[in-house]
Amino acid sequence: MPDPKLTIISLGCAKALVDSEILLGGLIKSQFQITQEPEEADTIVVNTCGFLEMAREESIETILAAAELKKSGNLNQLVVMGCLSERHPEELAAEIPEVDRFFGSNNHKQIVSFLTGKDFAQDDPLFFRSLMTPNHYAYLKIAEGCDNGCSFCSIPIMRGLQKSRSIESIMWEAEKLVDQGIRELLVIAQDSTSYGWDLKPKVYLDKLIKELGNLNVDWIRLHYAHPAHLSQRIIEGMAASEKVCHYLDMPIQHASDSILKSMRRGLGKEGIRNRIKKLRDTIPNIRLRTTLIVGYPGETEFEFQELYDFVKEIRFDRLGVFTYSEEEGTIAADLKDNVLAEVKNERKARIMDLQAGISAEKNMAMVGKTYKVLVDKKGNTVSVGRTEFDSPEIDNIVHIKSPVEKGEFIDVKIESSNEFELIGTPA
Ligand code: SF4
Repeated sequence: MPDPKLTIISLGCAKALVDSEILLGGLIKSQFQITQEPEEADTIVVNTCGFLEMAREESIETILAAAELKKSGNLNQLVVMGCLSERHPEELAAEIPEVDRFFGSNNHKQIVSFLTGKDFAQDDPLFFRSLMTPNHYAYLKIAEGCDNGCSFCSIPIMRGLQKSRSIESIMWEAEKLVDQGIRELLVIAQDSTSYGWDLKPKVYLDKLIKELGNLNVDWIRLHYAHPAHLSQRIIEGMAASEKVCHYLDMPIQHASDSILKSMRRGLGKEGIRNRIKKLRDTIPNIRLRTTLIVGYPGETEFEFQELYDFVKEIRFDRLGVFTYSEEEGTIAADLKDNVLAEVKNERKARIMDLQAGISAEKNMAMVGKTYKVLVDKKGNTVSVGRTEFDSPEIDNIVHIKSPVEKGEFIDVKIESSNEFELIGTPA
């Protein structure tokens, strides 16, 4: 009897991807054969996202597609997990009866028990992850949940308050990943800059950075910094490390004081400007990624212009924009969502146009210079990679006019560029 085939469809953020990888680690150990083709699978697990309307729709469409396979008799078991399932298990079960079981985002053992019939004791160690990323980089989740309570955000409702992992447990995992050949660790949390605040005794992110720096890894990349919590000690910890990429992902969400206050971001425009100045003074070639929300309740053309002017002034290196979507159970949901959808989309487009110009100028300034590039994909005649200034999947890429092995580092001389790409040859 061949081993049953299983597909995990992992939706949402990198933190959810780590959850899928932990589950995969448990299922592979339980003799499930993993297939990327849902049509071939006996069992499908859908890891859902509940963050924004768009993400919820995608999650439900994915579950419905798998349910069709079940109805057609091509699928034995359908299991759903993750944030949307954590939040609305009953409603989903009523709507999609083909699903055998709904789980939350932190029920790895229960899911493996349900699918294999095996029992796991409460204190049994969690499964070691089986990576779903290319095997030269991995996300390292250092905490779950969030204490910040931003008015527009439902994540604390789905993931709870912040629970930092101990430095020992993170280092244990990171060492195993590096032993597996990982060259880049991407540090993630809901708010990585408040890492360790809930631990007794309290620890700070710079201590973790120092420890990770002792590993035989090439790059350590920091994501999800909160400007209100980006302390000088963290900035200096980043600067002191040879391994920490000169890159920081720091969502600011907005730049108008009245909107930031309503968002409960804990810091105004001047504060954000000062943190960015300190960061750039301490690490002059740092590249900054940020995320913005346009169309938040009460955002008039005046507040939007404040944001637009701030983006023009700061000249972020990488930037993403979301249009505000009302999230049930959040503080902002009590506010009138009074910005029309077409106005939200128009404001998003104006910021993205501005940013495309900034990005093109910054990339132009890299032409003629040589950068260390980590190769993510090898083609027959070309390959694609990233500099230390770019995170996988979301930032710029480097097209290399030579077929270089995936996971290899190579120095590349940049010959040309456009808004979001660099083109070059091995130096
Ligand atoms: S920092 Fe704010 S936006 Fe980010 S997860 Fe926490 S509450 Fe949500």
